[in-house]
Amino acid sequence: MDKIRMETPLVEMDGDEMTRVIWQMVKDQLICPFVDLKTEYYDLGLEMRDATDDAVTVESAQATKRLGVAVKCATITPNAARVEEYGLKQMWKSPNGTIRALLDGTVFRAPIMTKCIEPYVRTWKRPITLARHAYGDIYRNTELRVERPGKVELVHTASDGTETRSLVHEFADPGIVQGVHNLDGSIASFARASMSFALDTEQDLWFGAKDTISKTYDHRFKDIFQEIYDLEYKEHFEKEGISYFYTLIDDIVARVIRSEGGFVWACKNYDGDVMSDMVSTAFGSLAMMTSVLVSPDGAWEYEAAHGTVQRHYYKHLAGEETSTNSVATIFAWSGALRKRGELDGLDDLAAFADRLEQATIDTIEAGEMTGDLAAITTLENPVRLSTREFIEAIAGRLS
Ligand code: NAP
Ligand code: MG
Repeated sequence: MDKIRMETPLVEMDGDEMTRVIWQMVKDQLICPFVDLKTEYYDLGLEMRDATDDAVTVESAQATKRLGVAVKCATITPNAARVEEYGLKQMWKSPNGTIRALLDGTVFRAPIMTKCIEPYVRTWKRPITLARHAYGDIYRNTELRVERPGKVELVHTASDGTETRSLVHEFADPGIVQGVHNLDGSIASFARASMSFALDTEQDLWFGAKDTISKTYDHRFKDIFQEIYDLEYKEHFEKEGISYFYTLIDDIVARVIRSEGGFVWACKNYDGDVMSDMVSTAFGSLAMMTSVLVSPDGAWEYEAAHGTVQRHYYKHLAGEETSTNSVATIFAWSGALRKRGELDGLDDLAAFADRLEQATIDTIEAGEMTGDLAAITTLENPVRLSTREFIEAIAGRLS
């Protein structure tokens, strides 16, 4: 059999623990037998990050800017225990954080739906994609505990020394205060990433904030989205027959629950944190979710949303059989291959990505699945497969 041709390589970011084991199985059994795979390989496993003083992470992000499409395995974000476990030189930063900072991206997450795992919300028929702004607000806050009476003010000191002040509160009793910020440029990138993604996937875009209460802060988000929409996207949206619509965040929440799904929901940073957990849980499982970081200048990084599944890895190391769900990792590969195919005009490659995803869904719908899904499926007698057996079952369908 002739293998499917590739032109530009994918940036391949290998990772840690159980997902690293799955990574190799997916490549060996689901991709390399069918595709003449070309990748530029970066080992983001913790040992290599430590050996290169984390330069490998930065290099992989730069390669993503250059080549346009990356696929990333889950990686350990070290804490004190990992520093000891791996004898690290220092507690390296989160690779996802480093990559996001370099690519200036927005993270899109969507559930992978099957007929045998039902959303808890009866009306949801199509996936809801969350687009989460990943900069500022309470994630970059400054807080004070106010112990004694006195006033708290916001003070802006311009570079020429001019001060602008605004009273936060005249405290008579103890209390708390918090300062948050955001940047026009970051909000604009978030708007462009959300709108480009909606266009690319031909879905409506919803955005909600609280501009009626936050008349300067949230209103700025609303205005920037509207300006960018009118100037850069309106015409393209109308041509595709999709729409952009803004309303208050609480109104959006009510509409989301009543909806059938099938749209992109852009969320401010905190709203996205809270709502993505609600949406993914309501759809079934974190291992049944796609995740892609989209940068405003057109780089795409596909990943699994879950971690390295440490508990399963230790079982694997002890020689025990595991039943780890590889769907999110498979969809990271298929997403990256499809995008590469689209960008390079390789229809066969994009079609292969579709077939790989279909074979994965078909396997689950035939009742062959890993333990996490067997526990929640609506099918009567699911067969609980090991990590290896599940990937083999998909490979069987593919060939
Ligand atoms: P985790 O890997 O997400 O796993 C937590 C638990 O969720 C697992 O023990 C397992 O439950 C279940 N689970 C997650 N993914 C699964 C899958 N694919 N199949 C079946 N079950 C799955 O989180 P963690 O074990 O707390 O974190 C391990 C490491 O991952 C940490 O070092 C963290 O830094 C890293 N992390 C990386 C990323 C990323 O790179 N994207 C994201 C999050 C965390 P049971 O044990 O009950 O079966
Ligand atoms: Mg969270």
